[in-house]
Amino acid sequence: MSKIATAFGINKALIALGVQDMNNGTSTGLSFFSSGEIIESYSPVDGALIAKVKTTTKADYEKVMASASAAFISWQKKPAPQRGEIIRQFGEKLRELKEPLGKLVSYEMGKSYQEGLGEVQEMIDICDFAVGLSRQLHGLTMHSERPGHRMYEQYHSLGIVGIISAFNFPVAVWAWNTALAWICGDVCIWKPSEKTPLCGIACQNIIAEVLQENNLPEGISCLINGDYRVGEMMTRDNRIPLVSATGSISMGKVVAQAVAARLGKSLLELGGNNAIIVTPDADIKMTVIGAVFGAVGTAGQRCTSTRRLIIHESIYDTVKDALVTAYKQLRIGNPLDENNHVGPLIDPDAVVLYKKALEKVVMEGGQLIVEGGVLKGEGYESGCYVRPAIAEAKNNFEIVQHETFAPILYLLKYSGTLENAITIQNGVAQGLSSAIMTNNLREAEYFLSTAGSDCGIANVNIGTSGAEIGGAFGGEKETGGGRESGSDAWKIYMRRQTNTINYTSELPLAQGIKFDL
Ligand code: NAD
Repeated sequence: MSKIATAFGINKALIALGVQDMNNGTSTGLSFFSSGEIIESYSPVDGALIAKVKTTTKADYEKVMASASAAFISWQKKPAPQRGEIIRQFGEKLRELKEPLGKLVSYEMGKSYQEGLGEVQEMIDICDFAVGLSRQLHGLTMHSERPGHRMYEQYHSLGIVGIISAFNFPVAVWAWNTALAWICGDVCIWKPSEKTPLCGIACQNIIAEVLQENNLPEGISCLINGDYRVGEMMTRDNRIPLVSATGSISMGKVVAQAVAARLGKSLLELGGNNAIIVTPDADIKMTVIGAVFGAVGTAGQRCTSTRRLIIHESIYDTVKDALVTAYKQLRIGNPLDENNHVGPLIDPDAVVLYKKALEKVVMEGGQLIVEGGVLKGEGYESGCYVRPAIAEAKNNFEIVQHETFAPILYLLKYSGTLENAITIQNGVAQGLSSAIMTNNLREAEYFLSTAGSDCGIANVNIGTSGAEIGGAFGGEKETGGGRESGSDAWKIYMRRQTNTINYTSELPLAQGIKFDL
């Protein structure tokens, strides 16, 4: 155990989660586990090796499929409210283990401990939501054009749902998907990011215990490990009717094509390029807090992180100066230490991409007003800590058009009316999250109108990140069009069936067609 891990109680957390002894690629508590090559998980916090996890081979995958297929037969027949009771118990276990799991998320992924706890809270919230949903999987009834007929539609379980998730929300995104899918009577196979495999095993241990206590098969919730090659086993497998994939746009394009090639369904939650519009009527203090949290929170590694600030020319210098002052106060360091605002990037590759983006924005004519840089020395031994940077730029710069998963904020100036700002805001390929800071009702409503933001999420007087589970979450354009979490997002995890019942002794045809024998 490293000094930091000991000081911040990581070992205790690993013991509570049953993942303390992960040096030889095996784990306790899993009835089927991978036997392939080993992936090593290093903490970006201190560079320590946390675990060695075996990847899933094709043969392992077939065993997992057999377990999932068998479990589906009984699980789908269990009444939805009874399935809800299992999710309720899962939520209770998460409440008990919130601190250790939040700590593991922070240590393996590098987000602050507070954000790690927040991620587990999201899991608990979606469990609560799912329990209520278990009594509300409503269909519709409609009037038939034929006398003595009744029509309605109902929703049935889909089957096996494949979940592919990204490193930056190593536990919550799985829970968003799986809690709803289970309520819908589906069983799930999850491939977490190869960068955060221990979080995946910890979650699997928690649900496996709940299933065991209820004499239910572990095949209801399956875990497979590895990189894109393991993910591809699911995207190409026509026994999996729905693949939910969260990650980069490049990954989404490959996954979408593979799933579509076999006419399966995919639910895509991909990258964003999120902006806040700051109008002359904005509250500057709120704007600065919202923009700084949005840009540097999770070290800029949220899909909803604020990447672009589109500021009206009349207040541009005021906002810029306030941001520069705020950035001077940021404390960068160990995310388990609650005094720090910004933790590390996920790995050295991410640091390279961060450095390249800063070079590129300057090459394209931008100007760094908060310089950034990689931190070295005591406390920064992992090599993953970087300074949040701010650059003045133009929206048509190539680098601004792409998502760099790091704390880099681009300042873009607009003049004239709000329409000009909206043109800039919508002038990117991605469409995840957006926000406007204004106290002007007309501006706020216009931003939310059909002519306004083209994103899946559009906020007024809050930043781009920090969504609640009650709303449907997702984005348009290259963000993939998927919706997860609240509202009616559950419908994608089910198949819809339209039923027509004739309770007469006649057989009239629809559209008045005559067919007499
Ligand atoms: P990534 O695309 O590198 O990997 C995501 C997952 O996809 C991993 O589990 C990976 O193994 C798997 N994968 C990659 N190629 C695959 C393939 N061809 N077939 C099957 N699986 C494949 O993304 P990342 O670096 O882990 O995460 C960061 C990205 O995720 C960012 O772009 C971020 O915006 C996005 N993200 C989006 C949301 C959202 O809800 N929209 C949420 C979180 C993260």
